[in-house]
Amino acid sequence: MTDFWFTEMHAEDAKFSIHVTEHLYSEKSPYQQIDLYDSKTFGRFLTLDGFMMLTEKDEFIYHDMITHVPMAVHPDIKHVLIIGGGDGGTAREVLRYPTIEHVDLVEIDERVVRLCQEYLPQTACKLDADPRLHLYFEDGLLFSKKAKDQSYDLILVDSTDPIGPGEGLFTYDFYQNCKRILSEDGILINQHESPYYKGDAYEMRRSHSKIKATFPIAEVYQFHMPTYPSGHWLFGFASKKYDPIKDLQAERWNAFGLYTHYYNTNLHKGAFMLPTYVKEGLENA
Ligand code: SAM
Repeated sequence: MTDFWFTEMHAEDAKFSIHVTEHLYSEKSPYQQIDLYDSKTFGRFLTLDGFMMLTEKDEFIYHDMITHVPMAVHPDIKHVLIIGGGDGGTAREVLRYPTIEHVDLVEIDERVVRLCQEYLPQTACKLDADPRLHLYFEDGLLFSKKAKDQSYDLILVDSTDPIGPGEGLFTYDFYQNCKRILSEDGILINQHESPYYKGDAYEMRRSHSKIKATFPIAEVYQFHMPTYPSGHWLFGFASKKYDPIKDLQAERWNAFGLYTHYYNTNLHKGAFMLPTYVKEGLENA
């Protein structure tokens, strides 16, 4: 057995490693370095520029939490925009709802989609298989500028971190466009970084201050992501109308009859109950 480990720095002096059984693929696309690996405990996994994106073992947590939380608050969502998400996991979950009519997925890097179709069918399985899904290979910020007012009921920002191509998706300009292209009762969910290590916590506060200044309702919820720095990760929930707890429609969501391995409507409420240091960090944003 080779002694090859994938290692990601989680802080200046803390790192996380997975033993690699096979380095499946490596390519430098025009946007980023793409690598796919295999491992015993986490299965196959995708990294971009050396940062963990997803593993077969824990992707269900991220994809349940980005999708089912807004769907349980607004079960009548019909038009969805996914920005990033080239691995297909978010689209897979969204397309489980028969009530959803149209999904636009805007991914800057076509190579991520094509390689995930080849190496990660667990997440990419719906990318070519559902007529409701429309793929666009372009920058999400530019796409949001061109989109018509009130075209979507739900925007899911499934992006990389705010370094490299993902940077524009953490700007005022982007959030203002999201507000404009969302319907009056629309919801924006964004990848909100982590409260724990200094660098991630700084980005968490930075995006929260911008979203809070843009939307009347801007809340944050947490989930457990074993392969992300500290294992403690956040999504933002922003809306012009809905409060994520008061407006939870648990009965209607449960009536969809979807089995979810992580999400349930009790956990939904708990996910918004944040530890004191996280609340303080967000309040001071
Ligand atoms: N769920 C994982 C996470 O948050 O780490 C992975 C998300 S997915 C792989 C992130 C995708 O966002 C990448 O494929 C990347 O190419 C894409 N992306 C980054 N910047 C983008 C932009 N400006 N517009 C559209 N897609 C972008």
